[in-house]
Amino acid sequence: APRLEIDQITRHFDGRDVVAGVSLSVTPGQVTCLLGPSGCGKSTTLRIVAGVDRQTTGRILVDGVVVSDDGRHAPPEHRGIGLMFQDFALFPHLSVAHNVAFGLDGGLRRHEARVRELLERVDLGGFFDAFPHQLSGGEQQRVALVRALAPRPAIMLMDEPFSGLDNRLRDEIRDRTLALLKEENTAVLLVTHEPDEAMRMADEIALMRAGRIVQQGAPYHVYNTPVDRAAAGFFSDINVLRGTSRGALTDTPFGQFLTPGLSDGAPVEIVIRPQHLRIDFDRQGRGPNPTASDGVAARGVVQRARFMGRESLVEFRMDHDGSSLKATVPAVFLPKPGTPLWLTLRRDR
Ligand code: ADP
Repeated sequence: APRLEIDQITRHFDGRDVVAGVSLSVTPGQVTCLLGPSGCGKSTTLRIVAGVDRQTTGRILVDGVVVSDDGRHAPPEHRGIGLMFQDFALFPHLSVAHNVAFGLDGGLRRHEARVRELLERVDLGGFFDAFPHQLSGGEQQRVALVRALAPRPAIMLMDEPFSGLDNRLRDEIRDRTLALLKEENTAVLLVTHEPDEAMRMADEIALMRAGRIVQQGAPYHVYNTPVDRAAAGFFSDINVLRGTSRGALTDTPFGQFLTPGLSDGAPVEIVIRPQHLRIDFDRQGRGPNPTASDGVAARGVVQRARFMGRESLVEFRMDHDGSSLKATVPAVFLPKPGTPLWLTLRRDR
């Protein structure tokens, strides 16, 4: 059963709906991510769930009980919700342990065991009596996390909670945070504008645009079967092949693609992620190697290749129609400009 249900929420500001009919549910132990560009309504949605803002129409339910609708509006502290934001602030005059115990009835005296256990789970057992200024940014973040989790909130709302951290620290803290939230079986609603963060953290991604959820599903699903070109382009650089449908077929460098249901002359855009192209050597003009049987191949000439650490980005000019395509390949491979190569697109992509 869902722990949190957002039922047809709208929020009107200054003559427009910044949230326009958002529905979503989160079960215990599940991380759902509201992902979208800045200004699409993510934070407003989160604030409505928290109870610090109020929807214009729609309902919020926690464990099947309405906490907010046209009539009712339970205050934030009566919703069983924990909050974690980017600009979390620890109380500077309180020790780490007292910070963690802050929201617990009876304070540190009654809950010392719980506080110790939580601090140990994030490897901060040794900082029990320390003060916030003695901790690094990442350590403070972990304290803020366990402080939010200490009262065992049924629901955790997180708004860009990791964006203040530097890259390498961020990955580690994301992973620890995720592990702890799973252990506690918390229902999590996470807001971010970063697709990498969403894919790393979420069981379910709700992709938002202009106040609406345009696609929802597991990261694998949203990444590999985007609803439209913009949804595809939100997750990575994309190639767009342009063509025209004729007799339900569209001509591309990779051969003819089925474009059923389109009338003759209809413009077609075919979107291919650079990650989904593979490069095969053209062995003296004999064509791609036989493993290309799992896909369709097209020949092109390398225009530019850039080394980017884990991978190389290679730009091609395709023989077929002079169109440009980018492919991301393992960085062991950095072809020279002018090299003719085959690009293979797996059929399932
Ligand atoms: P996101 O979190 O996706 O960046 P927000 O939910 O913060 O987006 O904002 C969505 C839109 O609502 C923005 O255009 C923002 O300017 C507007 N907005 C947010 N809060 C208010 C407010 N209190 N009054 C008027 N407009 C607001």
